Amino acid sequence: MSAQSVIIIGGGLGGLSAALHLRQQGREVTLFEQNPQLGGRANQIVTDGFRFDTGPSLLNYPWVCRDLFAATGARFDDYITLVPVDPTVAFLWPDGKRLALSSDMGRLIESCSKLEPGAGPGVVAFLRDARIKYDLAFNKLVTRNEDSPFRWFSKLSLGEMARLSVWRSLYGQLGKYFRSRHIREALGSYGMYLGGSPFDLPGMFTILPYGEMAYGLWLPKGGVYGLVEALAKRGTEMGVQYHTDTAVKQIDTANGGVRGITLADGASHAAPIVVSNVDVPVTDGHLLAHEDAVSKRRQRSARMHVTPGVVTFYWGVRGKVHGMGHHTIFLPDDYRGAFQDLFRNGRIPSELPFYISIASETDPELAPKGDSAVFVLVPTPRLSMLGPCDWPAEVDSIRSRVLERLRRHEVDLTADRIVTETVYTPEDWGEQFGLYDGSAFGAAHTLFQVGPFRMPNFAAELRGMYYTGASTTPGTGMPMVLLSGAMTAERVANRET
Ligand SMILES: Cc1cc2nc3c(=O)[nH]c(=O)nc-3n(C[C@H](O)[C@H](O)[C@H](O)COP(=O)(O)OP(=O)(O)OC[C@H]3O[C@@H](n4cnc5c(N)ncnc54)[C@H](O)[C@@H]3O)c2cc1C
Repeated sequence: MSAQSVIIIGGGLGGLSAALHLRQQGREVTLFEQNPQLGGRANQIVTDGFRFDTGPSLLNYPWVCRDLFAATGARFDDYITLVPVDPTVAFLWPDGKRLALSSDMGRLIESCSKLEPGAGPGVVAFLRDARIKYDLAFNKLVTRNEDSPFRWFSKLSLGEMARLSVWRSLYGQLGKYFRSRHIREALGSYGMYLGGSPFDLPGMFTILPYGEMAYGLWLPKGGVYGLVEALAKRGTEMGVQYHTDTAVKQIDTANGGVRGITLADGASHAAPIVVSNVDVPVTDGHLLAHEDAVSKRRQRSARMHVTPGVVTFYWGVRGKVHGMGHHTIFLPDDYRGAFQDLFRNGRIPSELPFYISIASETDPELAPKGDSAVFVLVPTPRLSMLGPCDWPAEVDSIRSRVLERLRRHEVDLTADRIVTETVYTPEDWGEQFGLYDGSAFGAAHTLFQVGPFRMPNFAAELRGMYYTGASTTPGTGMPMVLLSGAMTAERVANRET
């Protein structure tokens, strides 16, 4: 085996990004993916002329993609076209209230003012404060490999630390700028993807809605899967070797270091460096189950707080769906109760929060002419919290409740218009992509699971062992896992010859 060989397990966005960066370092990179297609959670279902992105539906911070391609000497825009989505997201409540977010300041203030007359100054002050938090988080904290909490925090002055509002809840922080519960609920609902309730997560996470409002949301032409194809194409040009339909059974180790991998079919491949894009607890608990050196790490990763699961529906719908744009979030009356159910009581809330993305509104080629590709995402507690579940019955109940809620809003999407349906339960998500506890977004972003407190992207106890993706640093979501690939490659460059 060559000292420059790297094996990557998993072709999710983190693995694909790490592959490009490591190849750029001149290493021989071979990637093994268990599924027939690359992309991981960012996969694609093609059926009856409809094309559905399985997971992520909207992209933000597009410069992360541009930087990644530029790092390999290529121009992102030569590989893919990004289409802006505006309004970015609309929120609807059962009482008929509506809020549309936009990266156009005039439209944003107009929409907020319908819920809170005179909201303009609050919107401006909110954006100003969130911008400072965003700049601090991005420039000083999130995107750097740093293992020492002391050194991590010492990058900030006391004033900057106070600015991050880590001791105030996200919901409390929003209350500083907005009186309207609807605006607070909408902007706080981003907590769901971070794995916590806005009543528990720190105030610094106003950076999420800020990032969307300030920099917009985008859809790659051809759907999010177009991004996966662009990354794979660039990797192939650079000489990355991809093996799909090839599950890894075990990471082989000897004398305190990795030696390569053994595949499910028994074949072995040698390499002194292995990067796992599989969720960290699954890597440590299954692929490294035999390795005593990582036993402490294994216990720690098994205790990790993870984000909720999701039930997702992919509906091919005849005709257009009127009354909805690309991306709509339906919030319940009992907002606090829904978060309590998801994160504390381990129940699927009776009044469901959910979101619907109709990507064909932005890119009509994703559906047969005149039809709609509809994606519905309903959060559920993680599997171990939920306990045994009769999924077929639960899916039927969720489908009826979603359709009933649409009827209440006079959205003309009725069961008889759905011509194709695919459903993934949290168990399907877990099995198909090796997700820990059926968690859709990976490790939660609680205060003690960010930066140096998050599971690190290397195993100090096992030479040559690295991690990338949503459950290690810096975090979950497409831009973060793409950055994760860069940070893991930097780790490798600093620790290996
Ligand atoms: C429903 C849903 C909606 C989302 N919406 C958004 C959104 O709108 N915007 C956004 O930015 N993010 C969104 N996300 C989050 C985003 O999709 C993830 O953060 C990101 O795609 C995770 O990438 P990853 O690198 O961790 O790899 P993963 O996608 O987890 O990929 C890991 C890969 O490893 C493979 N694998 C596992 N075990 C093995 C094995 N033994 N051998 C070989 N291969 C193996 C898996 O098959 C998989 O392909 C969403 C996620 C979900 C689930």
